[in-house]
Amino acid sequence: MKTIAERLQSASETIAGLCQMLNKSPSQVQLLAVSKTKPVEDILEAYQAGQRLFGENYVQEGAEKIQALQAYPDIEWHFIGPLQSNKTRLVAAHFDWVQSVDRLKIAQRLSEQRPAGSAPLQVLLQINISHEQSKSGVGDEAALFALAEQVNSLPNLTLRGLMAIPAADLDEQAQERVFSQLHSLFSALQARYPQVDTLSMGMSADMPAAIKAGSTMVRLGTAIFGARAKRAET
Ligand SMILES: *Cc1c(COP(=O)(O)O)cnc(C)c1O
Repeated sequence: MKTIAERLQSASETIAGLCQMLNKSPSQVQLLAVSKTKPVEDILEAYQAGQRLFGENYVQEGAEKIQALQAYPDIEWHFIGPLQSNKTRLVAAHFDWVQSVDRLKIAQRLSEQRPAGSAPLQVLLQINISHEQSKSGVGDEAALFALAEQVNSLPNLTLRGLMAIPAADLDEQAQERVFSQLHSLFSALQARYPQVDTLSMGMSADMPAAIKAGSTMVRLGTAIFGARAKRAET
């Protein structure tokens, strides 16, 4: 069985290979290691191999891991899960980024609850690109631009871009189509807000298509930490 360090190494090589093919610098595609359900020891193993960006999906679990790893202030913590308004306070207190903002109420609460003296929370707006009922996310371009304007005006948030999770059952062509739609939305957002620089798309199963379409951040869980047991917390 491969170690976490070996899996990180091989993911970086895959990313570098795709970037080379596209005439991009590998530094243009960041790797977010998605550590949900995995123990602190696994995160530390990845950290020791040089990984600094970690993504968590569950509020309580994420906050506990962040506290347990306080001695490593150079870790950048991304909240990437569905977020209910009664849990925003913990997220605002502990995370550096939130990738799953999809409505004004959540954004307002995150801004109000960001502790004084903390850097602004870095925010991505989640797009429900495959229009799935089971997924959160903004449903269309008009709603996206309305939300972007509101988020951009909140004092303790910085709007940095977009995140999406396409339907799981797409073939590679369909993946590319969806990712290129996302890239168009991203370009339009960037034209309006110059600080927008992050397009978070691509997971273990669809990373090549995402990078080809212009992803700037891939979110890898299984490919780095191995398969996960299912769990129920929302
Ligand atoms: C779990 C999760 C990932 C990682 O998924 P893998 O298929 O394990 O790579 C990425 N993004 C989000 C939003 C997730 O919830």
